[in-house]
Amino acid sequence: MIILSGGTGTPKLLVGLKRVFREEELKVIVNTAEDVWVSGNLICPDVDSVIYALAGLIDEEKWWGIKDESFYTHTALKRLNYEEPMTIGDKDRATHIIRSEQLRQGKSLTDATSSLVRHFGITARILPMTDEPAAISTKIITPEGELHFQEFWVSKMGEPEVSDVYFDGIEKAKPSEDVINALMSEDVVVIGPSNPITSIGPILSLRGIREILKRKRVVAISPIVGTEPISGPAGKFMYAKGFEVSPYGVYKCYDDFLDLLVIDAADECPKGVEVQKTDIIIKNAADSEVLAKVIRDIIDN
Ligand code: GDP
Repeated sequence: MIILSGGTGTPKLLVGLKRVFREEELKVIVNTAEDVWVSGNLICPDVDSVIYALAGLIDEEKWWGIKDESFYTHTALKRLNYEEPMTIGDKDRATHIIRSEQLRQGKSLTDATSSLVRHFGITARILPMTDEPAAISTKIITPEGELHFQEFWVSKMGEPEVSDVYFDGIEKAKPSEDVINALMSEDVVVIGPSNPITSIGPILSLRGIREILKRKRVVAISPIVGTEPISGPAGKFMYAKGFEVSPYGVYKCYDDFLDLLVIDAADECPKGVEVQKTDIIIKNAADSEVLAKVIRDIIDN
């Protein structure tokens, strides 16, 4: 099975998908538009969260980073008057160093990710959406000016009002060959419960992806319950882009190709798309497995 992923909701669901499908059957296409070079290393926040979730190492309080982390290097850098724009754990930094070394040796981001993934004992395929490292940059337009996604979300804690969002560099970027081949080889494509604007949006904006999806059966799981996302700034971004913050708004983000939207049991999606209602809030691995079984049944039917 193939799933498009951002960094929080979909990694939560991967925990259950890994139990319900054979792990080597899972192919995860991951957003890279929030990737950024920090202190000499490439951080791929969404790819890293997918790796850590599948490896059983993710910090389940925050749903990013590795559990039981230490921050010695980050603190030592601070003492040397070097301020990193985000707090980077020591173990997490080891991932970034290995990835970046491989890129410097000439490996593609896809190959660097595959070899990292093997070290973590993961047999699923994790496919960064493009092989051009940090070529795309998510920009948030606010009254304080244009902010990089990380600046908006980490430094400004998502507080500024948002009037627009765009992906700098997206017109020139291509999806990786592995992404195209993986999509072409499946009849059903699942869009995980991730931010439709800044996590799934960049994948859909890559050349040719929407056209492929129009030829597939596409199933999405809503990241919005009622009129709010479960976490993160998706609501602000959907509103800024003119979408209602609701499952209906999620459908409208995907309306040119979506066949089925999985929404919360208490929600409605008044028109336009076939809907399946179930519990879509994932509080633990058991919830994730229940939702994963619903998805398996949808794919099998
Ligand atoms: P960001 O945090 O907005 O940058 O986006 P991500 O794509 O990394 O993930 C956040 C999205 O996951 C948000 O839109 C959340 O509503 C969604 N999400 C988080 N936890 C859950 C959950 O338990 N169930 C569902 N359905 N969505 C979730």
